[in-house]
Amino acid sequence: MTQSKELGEVNESRVNMITLTINNRQISVPAGTTILDAARRNEIHIPTLCDDPRLEPYGGCRLCLVQVKGMPRPVTACTTPATDGMEVETSNAEIERQRRTVVELLLSDHPNDCMVCEKAGDCMLQELAYFYNVRENRFAGERRTYAKKDMNPFIERDMEKCILCGKCVRVCDEVQGVAAIDIANRGFGSKISPPFDKDLNCEFCGQCVSVCPTGALLGKESLGKGRQKDVKEVETVCPYCGCGCNLTLHVSRNEVVRVTSKQDTVNEGWLCVKGRFGFNFISSPDRLTAPLIRKGGAFAEASWEEALGYIAERLTAIKSKHGPDAIGGLASARCTNEENYLFQKFMRAAIGTNNVDHCARYCHSSTVAGLATVFGSGAMTNSIAEIEKNDVMFVIGSNTKESHPIIALRMIKAKRKGAKLIIADPRRVPLVRFADIWLQHRPGTDVALLNGMMHVIVKENLVDRAFIESMTDGFDEEFKKNLEPYSPEAAESITGVPKDLIVKAARLYAGSKKAGIYYTMGITQHAHGTDNVYAIANLALMTGNLGKEGAGVNPLRGQNNVQGSTDMGCIPNMYPGYQRVTVPAIRQKFEALWNVKLPDKDGLTAPEMLMAAEKGSLKALYIMGENPALSDPDLTHTVKALKALEFLVVQDIFMTETAELAHVVLPGASFAEKVGTFTNTERRVQRVRRAVNSPGTAMKDSLIIMELSKRMGYEMNYSHTVEIFREIGQAWPALAGMSYARLEDGGIQWPCPTPDHPGTQYLFKGGFPRGRGRFTAVTYQPSHEEPDKEYPFILTTGRTLFQYHTGTMTRKVRPINAVSPEPFIEINPQDARALSLESGAKVRVSSRRGSITLKAVVTKRPGKGVVFIPFHFKEAAANILTSGTALDPVAKIPSFKVSTVRVEKVS
Ligand code: SF4
Repeated sequence: MTQSKELGEVNESRVNMITLTINNRQISVPAGTTILDAARRNEIHIPTLCDDPRLEPYGGCRLCLVQVKGMPRPVTACTTPATDGMEVETSNAEIERQRRTVVELLLSDHPNDCMVCEKAGDCMLQELAYFYNVRENRFAGERRTYAKKDMNPFIERDMEKCILCGKCVRVCDEVQGVAAIDIANRGFGSKISPPFDKDLNCEFCGQCVSVCPTGALLGKESLGKGRQKDVKEVETVCPYCGCGCNLTLHVSRNEVVRVTSKQDTVNEGWLCVKGRFGFNFISSPDRLTAPLIRKGGAFAEASWEEALGYIAERLTAIKSKHGPDAIGGLASARCTNEENYLFQKFMRAAIGTNNVDHCARYCHSSTVAGLATVFGSGAMTNSIAEIEKNDVMFVIGSNTKESHPIIALRMIKAKRKGAKLIIADPRRVPLVRFADIWLQHRPGTDVALLNGMMHVIVKENLVDRAFIESMTDGFDEEFKKNLEPYSPEAAESITGVPKDLIVKAARLYAGSKKAGIYYTMGITQHAHGTDNVYAIANLALMTGNLGKEGAGVNPLRGQNNVQGSTDMGCIPNMYPGYQRVTVPAIRQKFEALWNVKLPDKDGLTAPEMLMAAEKGSLKALYIMGENPALSDPDLTHTVKALKALEFLVVQDIFMTETAELAHVVLPGASFAEKVGTFTNTERRVQRVRRAVNSPGTAMKDSLIIMELSKRMGYEMNYSHTVEIFREIGQAWPALAGMSYARLEDGGIQWPCPTPDHPGTQYLFKGGFPRGRGRFTAVTYQPSHEEPDKEYPFILTTGRTLFQYHTGTMTRKVRPINAVSPEPFIEINPQDARALSLESGAKVRVSSRRGSITLKAVVTKRPGKGVVFIPFHFKEAAANILTSGTALDPVAKIPSFKVSTVRVEKVS
């Protein structure tokens, strides 16, 4: 059962119920339900073309006419509220006559081309025509004709098939919050406007395609590849961001040809552009299809036997000569839990080192370090669906609309329901359009901003004293004294945010009953990222916004399974389930489970591994599904370190920038080719299912690890991933109650300790894992680099909506590259004027680490003195500019969000 269903049921028990009769059947529904919803809840069919239960009632198509006793004429079921004692008839001769007339009228102006229409067999209008047996048409006459414009790379539109149900217009406005389209004109001249071309203010999410009941809107990449009746549907989870949207892969002839999503899911059936249209990388001709071994400077294809034998031989030799700690491994936030579990087990049990890490080091290691210290757990405390329960949403350091698009839709939904939105971000990110308060602080001044807000909350006694006393430690005079210097005036001088706004935001957040904080890398990717996390935790603790529904501290995880890969122990100091490798009792437990002696000291973090490689103490690195040659900071050094390795193995689905440097490249399987589980940002473990076969001899990543481990002398014999999942439950009690069978219907949120446990919607109900939540005084530290004469701009890096991470997958998707083809730098108009720059001008951007050349986009998104570059593009890799040595002292996360740069116009 999904989260939304669970929440729905909780609510239902609290609301007034009414009883009505539909077709002589007595039914009870919550007050406020429409007749159509009441019928649906009880599986009574009423036809409709314009209704979608996720949208506001519209009453446009008039197919849902029903007769209510006592009313003079039929009414539309979608707009008429059910009332207590109401008697409804959904079908009689007059109603059916009227419905048939509606269908005839629609068909009078509709192309009669079902035999070649892509949507045939899946078209609601075709179904109705069949049901009402409409062959001849009494109303045949003038028809609307439209020129076929073809500028939109994602969506094929045939407006002659549009029945003006208005669903596309409503979904774009109500759900997506974009309102890129509308219905223009009246009567026969009505049409969807402006045309669906790429000049629209369109996010290409394709929600309009998903709700269109006819063939008017279709995914362009799917055309001609298989109608609905010809495809196999496979339920799985999106391979991109951490929202964990459920995907239905439509498969024809071993190819994914279309992606949809069901309504009863964590994402309510909505997807973003990447989830809906970013699937063509699976069948890309660029996929790796056979193992490659570097011979004489070039790669040569090899058999699996040869490649695995060679890797085992080289790793064994390095281990014998230099010890196991001369080898390191990077696991993958894109791979399944089962694969990541095996990977860290391989590193620890077969190689004998704790040198295992992954990209979480570069995104949320400060969250894990910070929240685990103050709460005892470092994950998102509450759930995505609970966003709708927030009175106030405080989004800080998160470009949610672009990085977690489906979570942003929940925020927009919450706004429509009356919640207030505070955003703190140095850039005018797209969600700012919905904000009640926008705090545009200088990059790197989060602690000053948060302490400023807390100063106001303490001074005005807006704290939750009962919560503080019963649930926390450390809210003492010393803690309060630490906040004293952060008066609104002082916070303004550090952050640049007007003091009145700081006061307003503090009062709004602290004054609400349920306030949720949402943050991402704008908070964590700093040389003081852990302090930022402590400050966020302090704010939630002092206002009692923990341990209850619709509140919490919610770090939004970036990649599809970055939560899971961390949970699985792909970090150098913890086994699966955040159990410390240095605690003897825990180590003994894992030694017994894995039947091997394990190393007893913390391993190296990812940046430490690269430093060790450069120094020569780390000799070999095994990288599964990561691309540090583009994603890591200070790329010049990163590449130098990778090149310094004696032996580099890369296991991936494409020849990445990192794979190009490897000695052996192994072809792995994409998400659509494997079975297992991903854990999304809200701790929801969900099933991943195989839809297609891998290309060539590419192998499942778990199989590759097992084969290699066997050759290294440590057998791991699992005949199915379900066995690995069972072992994970033995290793980590929080997953002990889960099984593949239990995960079938929407997944379960950990902790789920027993087979009858429903999973945990929100954490810390009744207490914290560490006992009491801990306040931690933090002081503002200036960033490692401050603008100066030579490097006057602050560079901040991040994601865009269309591309993903290092572009390994999205840059193989044609339409995505059509709308997002090249790197760019965002620069404020005032700064652009001073540099005589216009949008489109070529600029050289230099930091103390290197230079890149790219296109300028002049925009008010960044404030004056701040520039932004997305890190997706190898042609102008933003990480050439970032620092690899400015690390958070606790989490060792680099400061991706603040570097100083110079911008120069080049001819
Ligand atoms: Fe996939 Fe994230 Fe988009 Fe959902 S929001 S479809 S998980 S990329």
